Amino acid sequence: HEGERIAKAIARAGIASRRDVEVMIEQGRVTLNGKILTSPAINVTGEDRITVDGEPLPERERTRLWIYHKPRGLVTTSRDPEGRQTVFEALPEDLPRVVAIGRLDINTEGLLLLTNDGGLAKVIAHPDTGWLRRYRVRAHGDTTQAELDKLRKGVTIDGMDYGPVEATLDRASGDNLWLTLGLREGKNREVKRILEHLGLAVNRLIRLSFGPFQLGDLEAGLAEEIRTKVLKEQL
Ligand code: URA
Repeated sequence: HEGERIAKAIARAGIASRRDVEVMIEQGRVTLNGKILTSPAINVTGEDRITVDGEPLPERERTRLWIYHKPRGLVTTSRDPEGRQTVFEALPEDLPRVVAIGRLDINTEGLLLLTNDGGLAKVIAHPDTGWLRRYRVRAHGDTTQAELDKLRKGVTIDGMDYGPVEATLDRASGDNLWLTLGLREGKNREVKRILEHLGLAVNRLIRLSFGPFQLGDLEAGLAEEIRTKVLKEQL
C-alpha cells in the first residue's frame, strides 16, 4: 500500500480535518488526476495531482529543523491543563509553527529539537531510531563509578525495563555530584528514575546532545536552525 489515504494527504496540507475532507470527497469537491472522486478509499503519493474546489493543494513546505535551548520551568506540551507556560509560548517570535521532537520535563534544560514537519518528528522520536541522548546531571546523594557501571546492562525499576546507560561520575560539589549520562531511549522521567534507583535525587538536568545535534553554547531561550542537508545525511 504505497502512499497514504487521500483524505489524510489533503488534511495534512491544512485544508480541513480528515473527517471534513471525507465529506468534501463525498460531495464531489475533490479531483484526483483530473477525475472527480466519489470515495475516500484511495491512496495517493506525491506524484498525484489533487484539487479541492478546483484549487490544487498548496506546495508542501520544506522541512525545517531547529535546536532550541529549553530553559527550566517550561512544559513541552502544546497546552497545559494547569496553565503553566509552554515551550511554544516562549519560543522566539520568528519561528513558524513547530512541534517538539520528544519532550523534556518542566525542570529539565537544554537541547530540544523542533521541526515544522510532524512526520519527521515521529521518525526521530520513535524508539527504533535510538539516537544517543547525553545529559549533564547534578544529583544529591552518594554513589561510585562501580555502581554507575552496573547501569550498562540496563535496569528494571517497578516492572519497567530501561536500556543500557553509560554514566560517568565527573566531580563532587558540596552535597551534590555531577554526572554525565548517555542513553538511547526517551522514556518518561527516565534519567530521574534510574538515578533515584541508585539513591540519587536529581536536582539539575541538562540535555547536551540528541543524536548528531549538540547544544553547544546556544543561550537559554534561543533557537538555531539546522540546515536540512545535514539532517538528511543523518537519517
Ligand atoms: N529524563 C528525565 O528524567 N527527564 C527528562 O526531561 C529527560 C530525561
